[in-house]
Amino acid sequence: MTSNHTIPVAGTLDILRARIDFPLLQELVYGKPLVYLDNAATTQKPLQVIEALEHYYKTYNSNVHRGVHFLSQIATEAYEIARRKIAKFINAAHEYEVIFTKGTTNGINLVASSFGRHFLKEGDEVLISAMEHHSNIVPWQMICEEKGAQLKVIPIDQDGVLKMELLDELLTDKVKIVAVTYVSNTLGTVNPIREIIQKAHAKSIPVLIDGAQAIQHMPVDMQELDADFFVCSGHKMYGPTGIGFLYGKEKWLNAMPPFEGGGDMIKTVTFEKTVYNELPFKFEAGTPDISGAIGLGAAVDYINQTGIRNIETAEHELMQYALDKLSGIEGLRFVGNAKERAGGISFLVGDIHPYDLGELLDKQSIAVRTGHHCTQPLMDFFGIPGTVRASFAFYNTKEEIDALVKGIEFAKRMLA
Ligand code: PMP
Repeated sequence: MTSNHTIPVAGTLDILRARIDFPLLQELVYGKPLVYLDNAATTQKPLQVIEALEHYYKTYNSNVHRGVHFLSQIATEAYEIARRKIAKFINAAHEYEVIFTKGTTNGINLVASSFGRHFLKEGDEVLISAMEHHSNIVPWQMICEEKGAQLKVIPIDQDGVLKMELLDELLTDKVKIVAVTYVSNTLGTVNPIREIIQKAHAKSIPVLIDGAQAIQHMPVDMQELDADFFVCSGHKMYGPTGIGFLYGKEKWLNAMPPFEGGGDMIKTVTFEKTVYNELPFKFEAGTPDISGAIGLGAAVDYINQTGIRNIETAEHELMQYALDKLSGIEGLRFVGNAKERAGGISFLVGDIHPYDLGELLDKQSIAVRTGHHCTQPLMDFFGIPGTVRASFAFYNTKEEIDALVKGIEFAKRMLA
């Protein structure tokens, strides 16, 4: 990207070589190389994923689970292979515990609605945390309102770390489910979800993990975590938009009613009664996003081939470098100072409005996110309207962090 750079190799990863896989990273924005630091919003896609989508539409586009014909059988097999890849990737005990969804939001709505309808009653509680994305707040609020249940919140401290010492007290007999994010999309905080799961399980309370900002950054193992539900989005893990998955333990998914009714989720239908299909189809009504699922399978292949441990190491190094460089900017303060962090860094500079800073960075072809990041209660806690967030993928380089630092210094001079 610059003429005198050293080749950034993290662990066994050759980052410059890997960047070639991502066509969009070769594009110019405003005539300059793109510095893409909005990976928490969505990651760029490798050719392997783009080609899997193209291959599906060009050579075997067909509906799944329905036709006896050749193409339908190939499409069904590819769709189910994608499910198998995901199950293996997250070490689910069974493939049928992986349900294709539209993404994290859809997965949480599925659980809130279906689990909530069946298990919540008046006076019950749902426990979330103060750093949740709106998509892990609003669906629970909706079902709580419907059922007369209450939403309770694990508070955080000024560093953006959960006040774990309050957890025991909050896990009352009334709590029917805990729903927390693994990694905060705004603060980058990595939450101690093993401890949360263990404490909740000690009281027989199931736990949903919002894995939207975790699965692309670190290995996740459903059996080791003992999570009851885990949701994430394909587009944040190098896959297509419009697809994601919900992992749910068999015992819960079997006990829950279907989320939506329609084709594929039934065994038999009469006007008097419908018998629902078994897992996973019970939760996949209608024609699914077939190409999306296949593309997500290709994304999982891509991550496996790159190595999730290599990704984790490369991103950790990048994070340390970015924290170090950004802290050298006068007037910059971090929003979120957790020791355990991944993904992104939120910050403010002096009294510059995040939007103004974001716009000036954009004009230098540096893409960051500004605003409340769908975490308004978190912004209220810190008493700020929003932040600037730079978020990383393994393909980002130290040169790009240097460009961000230079860009911020330039914006400071412009706005002085
Ligand atoms: N939870 C977290 C932690 C997120 O970062 C996001 C996306 N910003 C979501 C949920 C929602 O994901 P999606 O919009 O892909 O459904």
